[in-house]
Amino acid sequence: MSTFISSSSSLILQPLKPQKPSKFTKAKTLTLTIKSTSEPKTTKNAQKPSSRNRRRSSYGTSRRSALKKTFTQEQVQFTAPVSSDPHVGIIGGGMAGLVCALSLDKRGVKSTVFDTGNHGLGGRMGTRMIGPQPLIFDHAAQFFTVNDSRFGQLVAGWLERGLVKQWEGVIGELEVGGKFSPFPSSPPRYIGANGMRPLADSLLAQTSMVNVVRPCWISTLEPFNGMWHLSENGKPRGQFDVVIIAHNGKCANRLLGSSGLPLIARQMKRLELSSIWALLAAFEDPLPIAGAVTFEGAFVKGVDSLSWMANNSAKLLSSRRDGPHCWTFFSTAAFGKRNKVPQENIPTATAEKVKTGMLQGVEAALGLPNCSLQKPIYTRVQLWGAALPTNTPGIPCIFDPHGRAGICGDWLSDSSLESAALSGLALANHIADYLESGGVHPEEFAVGLHNEFCTLEGHDIGQFPGLESVGKQEIQAYELTT
Ligand SMILES: Cc1cc2nc3c(=O)[nH]c(=O)nc-3n(C[C@H](O)[C@H](O)[C@H](O)COP(=O)(O)OP(=O)(O)OC[C@H]3O[C@@H](n4cnc5c(N)ncnc54)[C@H](O)[C@@H]3O)c2cc1C
Repeated sequence: MSTFISSSSSLILQPLKPQKPSKFTKAKTLTLTIKSTSEPKTTKNAQKPSSRNRRRSSYGTSRRSALKKTFTQEQVQFTAPVSSDPHVGIIGGGMAGLVCALSLDKRGVKSTVFDTGNHGLGGRMGTRMIGPQPLIFDHAAQFFTVNDSRFGQLVAGWLERGLVKQWEGVIGELEVGGKFSPFPSSPPRYIGANGMRPLADSLLAQTSMVNVVRPCWISTLEPFNGMWHLSENGKPRGQFDVVIIAHNGKCANRLLGSSGLPLIARQMKRLELSSIWALLAAFEDPLPIAGAVTFEGAFVKGVDSLSWMANNSAKLLSSRRDGPHCWTFFSTAAFGKRNKVPQENIPTATAEKVKTGMLQGVEAALGLPNCSLQKPIYTRVQLWGAALPTNTPGIPCIFDPHGRAGICGDWLSDSSLESAALSGLALANHIADYLESGGVHPEEFAVGLHNEFCTLEGHDIGQFPGLESVGKQEIQAYELTT
C-alpha cells in the first residue's frame, strides 16, 4: 500500500501539442522510451553494472577517463516494485534541490538533501557577512524576477514570511564612460530580506519530511539491491529509492561517470558552463556616480573585465545611513575564461591580477580618470568556475525511470533562480507521480534523456525573465498540467 498523500493538484509532465518552431523548440521531441547504449540486464532488483564495465568513481579521475566511463557504462535497471515508504536522496542544496525537497514534502514523499556548503545551503545563492561593521555581499545571485505563476506562488509565501522583499533601488545599464540608463521599475525585483543565503537556509523550515546533511560532498553513487547507496569518500551516507542530481559541473560528471546511468550522464556532459569572477569590495566613501540617478545595480556594457556591479549595502542595509559601502562586481564571461584557474586553489598572483583588472573596469565603467578610484578597505575575489549554462536542453527536468534517477537545475531551461526553482518543482511532482504509479510502466515516465541542446543567450550573469532589455525567449517545450 502506498503511503502517499494523493494530491488533487498533482502535476504531470506532458508534451505540448506541436508548437510554432522557434530557436529553442525546433529540435525537441519528448521521448518516452529509454534507449540504452547497451542492452540493460533486467532482474528483480537493481543490476549492478558488470565488473567489466563498471569502475569505482574517483576524484582523481582524469577528464578523458571520466568521459570514457560515461559512454561505456551499462544502464542500471531497477525492476523491483517501488517501496511503500520511499526515500529520495537529493545531491545539491541550491534553489533547485531545495524546491525539489519542499515539493516532495508537499506530496508526502520524504527526502534527504546533501550539500557541500560549509556556511549554509544555497549554492549559487551565496551571501558573505563579515563583522563587526558589518560588511555584507550577495556574491552570486543578486535578485530575481517572477515570470511564472507557480514560482509566483512560492515567492508570495516567502514574502508573507518576510524571507524576501522587493528591491526598490534603481537598476539599469551602465555604458563605459558612465552613461547610465535605468530600467523601468516593473516587473518587481526581489531579494533575500537578509541576503540570498539566509533565504536558502529558511526554505525548508516548514517541512516535516526533509532531512538536511551539510557539509557533505557525495563522492559515490552505487546501485545495489534495489537501492541507490550514497557515500562520502568511503563513508556511507544512506540508501535511497530514487536519487536526484541537483548540481552541475565537473563534480556531477565524476559522480555520474560510473554510476550506471549513461543517458543521464550523457545529457550532463553536453552542458557547457561559463566562468565568472566575483570581486567583493568595501569602500569607506560612496562611489562617485555621475548623473542625476544614483543606481544600486547596473549591467555594465563595453568593459572587458566587468559585467555587473551592485551596491549591496544599499540593497540589504537600506536603513543604515553610515558605514562602509559594500559592492559586488562580476566579470564578463570572456574575462572569466581568460583568467580561469582551479577555483579551490587560486594563485595569489592571479587573484591580484583579477582584482586590479576589475577595479580598473570599475573606473572605466564610471568614467573616472585612471588610478583615481579610492582604495577599498576590504576586497575578496572568488571564481565561479561553473557559473552559468551557455546551452540548454530546454526542458524542466530529466528523469530516467529505469535507473530511478533524475536531474534538476537552472540549466535545464534557463539560467536564473526562477528556472532552478521551476526545475526542482517539476522533478518533484514527476517523481511523486512515478512513485504513486508503483513504477509499473517506467517507460511512461522517461523525460529529457535524448533532448538536443540549444545555445542560451542572456547577460553574462544570467537571464532575468521580465527585464525588457534581455529579450527573453519563450522556451517551454512542455507544460505542467493539472
Ligand atoms: C555570478 C553569478 C550571478 C548570478 N546572478 C543571478 C541573479 O542575479 N539572478 C538570478 O536569478 N540568477 C543569478 N544567477 C544564477 C543563479 O544563481 C542560479 O541559476 C541558481 O542559483 C542555480 O541553482 P541550482 O540549484 O540549479 O544550482 P546551485 O545553486 O549551483 O546548487 C548546487 C548545489 O549542489 C552542491 N553540490 C555540488 N556537488 C555536490 C556533491 N557531490 N555533494 C553534495 N552537494 C553538492 C553545490 O555545492 C551547491 O550548493 C547567478 C549566477 C552566478 C554564478
